[in-house]
Parts: sequence; structure tokens; C-alpha cells
Amino acid sequence: DIPVITVDGPGGSGKGTVTQMLARKLGWHLLDSGAIYRLTALAAVRQGVALDDEAGLVRMAAALDVAFEPTPAGEPAKVLLAGEDVTSEIRTEACGNNASRIAVMQPVRDALLQRQRDFRKAPGLVADGRDMGTVVFPEAPVKIFLTASAEERARRRFSQLMAAGVDVSIDTLLEEIRARDERDTNRSAAPLKPADDAQVIDSTGLSIEEVLDRCVAAAGQ
Ligand code: C5P
Repeated sequence: DIPVITVDGPGGSGKGTVTQMLARKLGWHLLDSGAIYRLTALAAVRQGVALDDEAGLVRMAAALDVAFEPTPAGEPAKVLLAGEDVTSEIRTEACGNNASRIAVMQPVRDALLQRQRDFRKAPGLVADGRDMGTVVFPEAPVKIFLTASAEERARRRFSQLMAAGVDVSIDTLLEEIRARDERDTNRSAAPLKPADDAQVIDSTGLSIEEVLDRCVAAAGQ
């Protein structure tokens, strides 16, 4: 049985960085499920499939040609859509918002389910998302739910964007984060919530290293 550690939580909770570090530390595979929703949204926009065309999105999701390529330590995996490098393109706020719009549709989620489960390979998998512990890997022995206050998440996102040379206001980011939380939490399809057996870690005020230490402890590693 190949072990899985699920790490769920809202955007900006530090999940992305921490799951990457955790996977590297353990020498396990990483599933960035948010990237799969982002890629589906990006492919839809490019192919002219409307973001409310459920049947069109499902067809497209089933045929999606995506690949994740490993990169040197500390860098995010390279994300390819039909062979093209879209690593930075899928990270925009617009793409995240589009991803969250299509993610409310249960048939779209169903179309992406097996693709996510296929990431479970020896020696183990760290799965990053919203519903990893509740839907995709409900049998995972270790489940973590990572949170942080909306203000802290807006500040973190602000620093990331500043470092990338993107000019935004922190108030706009906070508004977007609240809107996305609202949509992810209140949707009927796989709403964002901790699994019953998840360990909740609040990363507000903690450094990435401290969060990683808590996750490693939670994982019993
Ligand atoms: O984590 P990330 O910001 O990349 O996710 C983008 C969006 O994709 C989320 O706001 C959420 O709506 C959706 N998502 C999801 N289920 C997942 C991962 C992401 O619904 N497992």
C-alpha cells in the first residue's frame, strides 16, 4: 500500500511551499491538484470553451494533455500543457479565479478524479489541494488541514507578487481571497473543509520552516 499524506486548506495558507518541501524531504511524489484545475481553466480559455459550459469542460478535462517536470531544489515544478511551458501563466490571479469557477461543477471534478489518483506512486505521495483528504484520498493515514487568517494570506500573496514584479494592492488581494474562500467553502461539490480525521495546523505567524516542522511531526516522520 503506497502511503499518502494529504494537505488541504485555503489558498495562501503556505500549502504549496510546504508540500513541496515535505515531498522533497521524504523523497515522495507531489500532486499539486490546484495546478490541474488551473490548467483546465487555462485550456478552456485558450480553446474558447465557456467557463459555464459544463459538458464542454468535461470533454476537455478528460482529454487534457498535462505534464509536471521536476526542477532543481526550491523551484516549483515545470508545468506543461500540450508540451508548452505554462508554469507562470497558470499562477496569475485570473487563472486562479477561473479555476475556482470551474471547480464548483461536480462533473468537472469527477473528470479530473482518476488523473489525480494516478499520482499515487511508490515510495509515497504528498497531495496538495482542497479535497485531498475528503474525496480524492479519503483512506490516507495522515491528513493535514493548513489554515492562516485571510489577512496573513493576503500579505504573503502580496510579497510573492511584489517579488515577481507584479503591482497590486493588498486590499484587492484580500477581497479576492475572501471571495475565493467563500466560493470554495460554500459550494456543494467537495466544499473546502477539514476531513474528520485531519490535524488542523494554523500557520498564522509561523515561518515556513516552523510549518514544515509541524507537518513532519503530524506525519509522524
Ligand atoms: O490551490 P490553487 O490556488 O492552485 O487552486 C485553484 C482553485 O482550484 C481553488 O481556488 C479551488 O477552487 C480549486 N481547487 C479545488 N480542488 C482542489 C484544488 C484546487 O477545487 N483539490
